[in-house]
Amino acid sequence: MSEEYYKATTFEEKMKLLYSKMSEKEKRDSREQIIYMCREYCGKCPSYEGTGEEMLAFCMEGKSSLIIEKKACLCGQCPITKTMSLRWGHYCTEGSATELSQAGK
Ligand code: SF4
Ligand code: SF4
Repeated sequence: MSEEYYKATTFEEKMKLLYSKMSEKEKRDSREQIIYMCREYCGKCPSYEGTGEEMLAFCMEGKSSLIIEKKACLCGQCPITKTMSLRWGHYCTEGSATELSQAGK
């Protein structure tokens, strides 16, 4: 797959191409990497700080039960947004990328 093609590929296509072919171990490793990276963004986000939330990677895991107020969102700066062609934001209050995609957003 060429780099250009990869850049132009949507979130939905990437999920089909990459995730569907991953083993359970690869999925677990990928989840850990996303959580590790997310700490630098969600972990430092004004919407997150001070809420008592400890969960991360809302783009993958879905909504937070503790974050209610929408302040800034740092997802746009996170490498996962580019890698996975995420086109939303505020996953902590809106739901996971898959949920947003399925809702037609
Ligand atoms: S999903 Fe966006 S708004 Fe929510 S904590 Fe992460 S960076 Fe902040
Ligand atoms: S896109 Fe947002 S929720 Fe997903 S890993 Fe990055 S900072 Fe976290």
